[in-house]
Amino acid sequence: MATDAWVNETLYPGWGQRFRIRRELARVRSPFQDIMVFESESHGRVMLLDGVVQITEADEFIYQEMLTHVPLLAHGEAKRVLIIGAGDGGVLRRVLQHRGVERAVMVEIDSEVIRLAREHMPGIAGDAWNDPRAEVIIGDGIDYVRQAPAASFDAVIVDSTDPIGVGEVLFTEEFYANSARLLSARGLIVNQCGVPFMQAQELHDSSARRAKAFPDVWAYVAAVPTYVGGFMTLGWAAKDPAMRRLGAEEIRRRAATAGILGTTRYWTPEVHVAAFHLPPYIAEHLPRR
Ligand code: SAM
Repeated sequence: MATDAWVNETLYPGWGQRFRIRRELARVRSPFQDIMVFESESHGRVMLLDGVVQITEADEFIYQEMLTHVPLLAHGEAKRVLIIGAGDGGVLRRVLQHRGVERAVMVEIDSEVIRLAREHMPGIAGDAWNDPRAEVIIGDGIDYVRQAPAASFDAVIVDSTDPIGVGEVLFTEEFYANSARLLSARGLIVNQCGVPFMQAQELHDSSARRAKAFPDVWAYVAAVPTYVGGFMTLGWAAKDPAMRRLGAEEIRRRAATAGILGTTRYWTPEVHVAAFHLPPYIAEHLPRR
């Protein structure tokens, strides 16, 4: 039964989306942010942080599949994966789907995000929290990367809030320099870079910072309906430029070996390859070499 109550997203001052609420499930002020979870009329359960949509049950698969399967399959042999943010557990679940992954460390600053996601959106992470390969640390991602030993991970996946508030440190030169140090010889990092039609400066600035720490910097795209404004960009920074130039057949072979083929609803080998071919309005914000 729909109510007359609506929630307006407050990301952009002059434009936004709104959801009709069926039922409010939680409203918490954590030490880091305002968290709201509600049952929507149209998109299943939805989580907002500081008024900004983070995840909906209806379209989370798009974002999570692209943020996880693309880097892990491009690498091909990632055994140790570091996840920063991602408190809903959706990335952790996708990382642990990969048969070759031996260890997944997730560093989330806000334990309330994890608690509320587990309570109200349990399907997002499934059983990932109990997987013996998973280690969940409550802490700031910038502190973790400062202290992590050199070459201790093969891939870093940053599923953060936008570069305002607690998420800002995850877009700094210091964060990328330490990420490059903690990654192994063929290591790579991906991160959410917002919707470039609306947040071009964010993509431009953070890509320039990544280029100071990594030889290969680019981005790839995914169309996530509730990250409104067209394509979302996922930032890409790698030590080996060949990793983003693999063809669909090689990606398919790796996905079969990893146990991913046939499990996805957005990602396919062809979508994977196509996602790196950017419209000029997006590519113009990336560093040229
Ligand atoms: N999928 C979402 C999106 O792109 O809109 C983002 C997912 S949300 C779960 C991002 C998470 O990053 C939040 O739970 C937030 O607490 C966490 N986060 C923000 N800054 C952080 C930091 N410095 N260290 C660790 N986690 C952080």
